[in-house]
Amino acid sequence: MIELIGKPAVPGIGIGKARFLIKSYSSLTRQKIVKGQELEQRKRLESAIKRTEAELIEIKEEIEEKLGKEHALIIESHLMLLQDKSLMEEVVNRIEKELETAENAIESLIEKYHEIFKNVNDYHMRGKVHDIEDVLRRLQKNLNYPGEKEEWEGGVIIARNILPSEAAFIITKRNPEGLITELGGETYHAVILARAFGVPMVVGIEEIEDRIREGENVIVDGNQGKVILSPASYQIVNYRKIKAREERERKLLLKAMEEENKTLDGHPFRLFVNIEFPSEVEKIPKDRVNGIGLFRTEYLLLSSGKVPDEEEQVKFYSYISEGFKDITIRLFDLGAEKEIEGLPFQEEENPALGERGIRYLFSHKELLYTQLRAILIASAIHPGIRIMAPMITNVLEVKKLFLVLEDVKETLRMEGKHFREDIELGIMVEVPSIAIFIDRILRYVDFVSIGTNDLSQYVFATDRTNERVSYLCEPLEPAFLRMLSFIIKESKKRGKRVSICGEMASNPLHAAVLLGLGLEEFSSNPAMLPRVKKALISLEKDVVKRKVINSLRFSTGHEVEEYLLGEMEKIYPEVYRCVRRLYYEKNG
Ligand code: PEP
Ligand code: MG
Repeated sequence: MIELIGKPAVPGIGIGKARFLIKSYSSLTRQKIVKGQELEQRKRLESAIKRTEAELIEIKEEIEEKLGKEHALIIESHLMLLQDKSLMEEVVNRIEKELETAENAIESLIEKYHEIFKNVNDYHMRGKVHDIEDVLRRLQKNLNYPGEKEEWEGGVIIARNILPSEAAFIITKRNPEGLITELGGETYHAVILARAFGVPMVVGIEEIEDRIREGENVIVDGNQGKVILSPASYQIVNYRKIKAREERERKLLLKAMEEENKTLDGHPFRLFVNIEFPSEVEKIPKDRVNGIGLFRTEYLLLSSGKVPDEEEQVKFYSYISEGFKDITIRLFDLGAEKEIEGLPFQEEENPALGERGIRYLFSHKELLYTQLRAILIASAIHPGIRIMAPMITNVLEVKKLFLVLEDVKETLRMEGKHFREDIELGIMVEVPSIAIFIDRILRYVDFVSIGTNDLSQYVFATDRTNERVSYLCEPLEPAFLRMLSFIIKESKKRGKRVSICGEMASNPLHAAVLLGLGLEEFSSNPAMLPRVKKALISLEKDVVKRKVINSLRFSTGHEVEEYLLGEMEKIYPEVYRCVRRLYYEKNG
């Protein structure tokens, strides 16, 4: 038994045999061929092209059927690249003139394109180089095609890297028990898809190709970011138990979704969902939630591998809005931890304090204009659409955005396009200056949504992605609760809608605390939605309010947490035992 430690990417337990995607190019040598062998290499290349084309067509059809046409756009563009004669001629030229093997010719071409596009600022062009690499890598793999088609399903898929074009195919077609990769982070395409489909995943396992053997038994622990190789039988038994318990809990929680949105003592609340990936909306019980509280549109750039044009964006926004009455679409929140490959980002000393969110959009106006146009056009058919801006810092930015919106509306009017004239414009409260000045800011916006992930990172001066200090980002710190309480009270006093769409609203204990602070709108991630709902419907608001007020006499977040968990466990044992377990699983 060997234990490998990586990073948890998608929660859950997967148990199965290790299945490698084809190993990466780094294991090949860069030997040259001798004169006379060019024809052989060309023939290999030609059959690899045919095979790649057949593969891409199959993937495209599969994705269209399972995920919808919009997800297949990326594969369509890959097919076009493959059919681009000049690209393939470049490979042939390298074989004939440089006497490179077909693999090496492809590798040289990938390097060449990276070099050329290194300093290019145009994001369409930079996105293109990733498409070219994806196609060429697939072609490179197919040069060593084993001869017969692999038809296996299940197992735990192991790969150094999963290409965007492979991710959807692997997850929908191979039905893996779990995924383990060396590369990957929050915005990694495979992670987003695995999350949408609930496939447990661990990323960040170094030297993966040397440490795991094809066919050996593997346990993926996506809750803790652990991988167990050749586990002992007692470990398999234990993990099977955890998996079964999780499944039981899931069913129980799903039942809670059937209940009305009100607390035990009859106080109504509104429950929204955060969407990152369009296909997630399929799984949301639309009649059981009040709408989408946060649609993180930056993931559209990932799913299509480029910046979608106006028409494509209108389609996306209409697709996700279908069946919802209330849809908050957040403008692209780019920069810092959300740097999307292919878009131009300046090197910055402190990206989290740099040109991100609305700041990035103001300096890349074409992105902002196209997105606003698309949202407005979609609002003609879906009047429940609202616009939300990320990372607003001051009133001036709100006013500036308002003017841009008016400008876009005016152009649409001149073009005779319909849209909802009084579409609501709201902002995320993520920067402390906005939180402190909320009473004034509220004059200029229709609604606010508190982004506790970023707000806590800026309040505690703590990088949310830095594991060495992220423990300081404790949402139950009395200082933070005081700030949240102020924002909630001021918004309600002024009759403006206030919600929380940061991860705090996805944690059952935190959601209960927020209810106690007066919050009535919660936007949770889809996976935690049933747990949050179960917590909220199982408690009495008036009791929780008293407990939360009591907890504010403590001086540390740890004391607040222990006190509230203890109290809640006493009153609502069934719900909070489950919450406590969640805590320990997460915090060790
Ligand atoms: C937040 O900051 O709380 C938030 C919801 O935005 P994101 O996590 O996408 O930055
Ligand atoms: Mg944020």
